[in-house]
Amino acid sequence: MIKSHFLCFILLIGISNKLFCYSIDSVFSSPVRGLCIKAPNHDEINNFVEFISQELAPRSINTLILRIDYSYEFKSRPELVDEGALSESDVNKIVTVCKENDINLIPQINLFGHQSWAGSLGKLLEVYPQFDETPDVELPDDYEWPNEDGLYCKSYCPLHPEVHDVVFDLVDEICEAFESDAFHAGMDEVFYISEEQCTRCNGTDPAEIYAAEITKIRNHLKLKKRRLWIWGDRLIDGKITGLGEWEASMNNTARAIDMIPKDVVICDWHYNKPVSTPVYFSMKGFNVISCPWKKSSVGIGQQEDMDHFRANATLEMKSRYAGVMQTVWTSASKFIEGLKSINPNTSDLEAENSWTCFYNLFPNKKD
Ligand SMILES: [Zn+2]
Repeated sequence: MIKSHFLCFILLIGISNKLFCYSIDSVFSSPVRGLCIKAPNHDEINNFVEFISQELAPRSINTLILRIDYSYEFKSRPELVDEGALSESDVNKIVTVCKENDINLIPQINLFGHQSWAGSLGKLLEVYPQFDETPDVELPDDYEWPNEDGLYCKSYCPLHPEVHDVVFDLVDEICEAFESDAFHAGMDEVFYISEEQCTRCNGTDPAEIYAAEITKIRNHLKLKKRRLWIWGDRLIDGKITGLGEWEASMNNTARAIDMIPKDVVICDWHYNKPVSTPVYFSMKGFNVISCPWKKSSVGIGQQEDMDHFRANATLEMKSRYAGVMQTVWTSASKFIEGLKSINPNTSDLEAENSWTCFYNLFPNKKD
């Protein structure tokens, strides 16, 4: 009898430990059904709020990442505000409708990379050119890829002693405005890193520099109990996997996967095939979300894989397969218009674009 009580006791400890592990391992109480989209302009705000209640809620979307960058009227850094930026009151409208519909609202500002686009400099390097990792690279009038400079997007120098004073002001203010417990820092396609022409970074290891920047951002967010989300491409070896230099890394950053905190959430984007990289991230201890773009077959494949991975995972790994999130790389208004224009009784459903993928991946309960 005593023996059986003792055994029960041991068993209970074992179960509670496992349950505890399960609960701290993931921040996701249910799988993510997400949308990541550029924030609307100030004059599109009412249309966007309606879109959230009329299109996202009936599709049980529970996560909305809004790419803000410099399109918010930052009070802490007014010098960095883009034209058409959202006001505090615009953001309040989005916060309210997301709360009403149980949607986790997360802001994104691209940190490190993506500080320019084609021939245009982003606000940060326009106002603070001293943060430029490649000051010798001039932006061309007629941008084309490939080019002699290997210019895709500019990066800021993560070792500049003042850059974080500036960008963390933006991060803190936008998280406050969004009332968010998470922040997406982008961090994808960082091509300029550890550059020779940067006096601070010359000779450094790109994996260490990349990991240090992620850790710095994550630690800053953690002070206010916020969680860091990033894109996963720089953490995958592009050569070994054959995934190449876009959806994976060919610039020696992949080893950073073993140098960063495990509570960083990985958004694992793959647009041509539903490759099985979520298993890699999950086995390394990360929560991972698969992300499609234009191809419905990829999005649906990623959703099926997530279900399959979860069904066959150990208790420890199961909850790390956190769900699927549609990515959109057009304006919000074009996406909304496209979604509204779909006629489900035609070949519209076979089109390759983000709104058709979204339509097929997350059916509307009202349809
Ligand atoms: Zn540098």
